[in-house]
Amino acid sequence: MVCNQYDVIVVGGGIAGCFAAATAADEGIDVVQLERKPRERGGFIACGDAIKSPRDPSNYPGPIDMDAIADDESVLVDNSIDRIEYWDEELGVRKVLPYENGSNVVDRYEFGQRLLEQAADLGVDQHYDTVVNDVVQDGRVTGVEAVRDGEPVTYECDVLIDAAGAQSILQDMVDFESLDTPGSPTFEIPHYTHFGSAYREIIETEEPVAYHDAIVGKPLEELGYIWYFPRTPTQINVGLGFQMNKEPIPLNDRLRRDVEDRPEYQGAAVAEKFDGKNKLGSAIALRRPLDSMVAPGYLAVGGAAGTTHPITGKGIRGAAYSGYSAGRAAVQAIEDGDVSEHGLWEHNRWLYREHGEAAKLASWDAYNVAASSIDVNVLRALTALLPEKELREIVGTSTEVDDLKSKLLVGAGVVRNFVAEYREDTFDTLDVSKTELYEAIRTLKKTRDHVAAYERQYEAYPTDRSGFESWLSERDRIDREFYDDLGLSSDEQKY
Ligand SMILES: Cc1cc2nc3c(=O)[nH]c(=O)nc-3n(C[C@H](O)[C@H](O)[C@H](O)COP(=O)(O)OP(=O)(O)OC[C@H]3O[C@@H](n4cnc5c(N)ncnc54)[C@H](O)[C@@H]3O)c2cc1C
Repeated sequence: MVCNQYDVIVVGGGIAGCFAAATAADEGIDVVQLERKPRERGGFIACGDAIKSPRDPSNYPGPIDMDAIADDESVLVDNSIDRIEYWDEELGVRKVLPYENGSNVVDRYEFGQRLLEQAADLGVDQHYDTVVNDVVQDGRVTGVEAVRDGEPVTYECDVLIDAAGAQSILQDMVDFESLDTPGSPTFEIPHYTHFGSAYREIIETEEPVAYHDAIVGKPLEELGYIWYFPRTPTQINVGLGFQMNKEPIPLNDRLRRDVEDRPEYQGAAVAEKFDGKNKLGSAIALRRPLDSMVAPGYLAVGGAAGTTHPITGKGIRGAAYSGYSAGRAAVQAIEDGDVSEHGLWEHNRWLYREHGEAAKLASWDAYNVAASSIDVNVLRALTALLPEKELREIVGTSTEVDDLKSKLLVGAGVVRNFVAEYREDTFDTLDVSKTELYEAIRTLKKTRDHVAAYERQYEAYPTDRSGFESWLSERDRIDREFYDDLGLSSDEQKY
């Protein structure tokens, strides 16, 4: 059997994998990136393709040249998106919000290919057609076993970076309990209900769509959502997503039902659809970032670490900045000769304390929990009554207001609009009572106070491994208080 030795192995040729591998290789470390897809399919992934501000270095830190990617016309085919639209067609609701400057819808395949090319140019060895099927460990993770071009191969390393995406299979392979950790391992495998599943197709219309310069979102049953994201005026990324804690539904059938009813898609060709080879659906992480993303010899990034919440626009950039963080933490640990949990802790510290997005995502996840506890029709009625100003702040369409704390405005805004826009038929159509609406507002207002407690706690995230247990026990206490206050039974509790 062939055996390869590297300082760092990165499993995954997606965004997180490219940012991690490029960052480590740029520091002169030997890095191999393993990807199960062939070279020509590398970077292809089912995605809504909506990307936030590619030129903002805080979203995409490290040596990958995002300006070159943003300038590449094969990636940003069209550059005209300037607003978000929320539609609830059954209720006749259409809300229009400005979209963050420079954000756009990319050709995800070309984007993925450019990232892989840049990682290779920075010195990363890339092994395609390589499926990792086991992890090797001895007190710490020491490598992986894979099948490359049909042949078994062993790879050894100092640090393994798990960039295998949401529901990473590597996390089933590592025996975290047997690794050398002081006390219990800090790494905890996420539960399947923390994920959603999403599916999309690329549709070519005969005429430009009316919303060619907007990204459009609509609510669906069971807290699902559907999107129409124009890549060009006639090439639309159309998809839908559901949470895995709800009843499973056949995603492509549900999408077809929606598309077939739309006049603009009559006679349209489906440019990319499921053909048994091209996977157009995948899991998405809909949870807060993992409490700890490290184990001895092992770091998790992107979808595998829960730093990617696509519904709040962090799917792509959350993969990018966490990949960068892991690349730099791996280099530092290798140089220090300490790849234990303690040595790799910098990855957690940087994400939670220095960059800070992980702390925000984790704190604001309380709003996602609260929203899941409210009936979907009540949420639709709330949104229908919500003034656009407040809605804009909730979805965070500019960096300054990218603050879900504004969700507290839900209460104030809805009540104000109650008089101005109250329509009995909204409540009749949705079969929602005013009492249910007020109850939902109370839930969201209560959540605001808990979010403040979470924020204080995440601001105090331990800067080294030794403070983790006491920090976690206080965070768990905040969880319990929150669930009790919302009256959620143990079955309804997310974590
Ligand atoms: C349908 C859909 C729509 C989405 N829309 C958006 C959107 O509009 N905007 C947004 O920001 N985010 C969106 N997201 C989320 C976004 O795509 C993810 O957050 C992002 O792709 C995560 O990147 P990643 O590098 O962590 O994982 P991935 O992109 O999933 O990459 C993981 C890679 O690992 C490889 N791999 C896995 N297992 C192995 C193995 N055993 N051996 C070798 N290789 C392996 C895979 O082939 C893959 O290439 C969407 C997701 C889905 C599914």
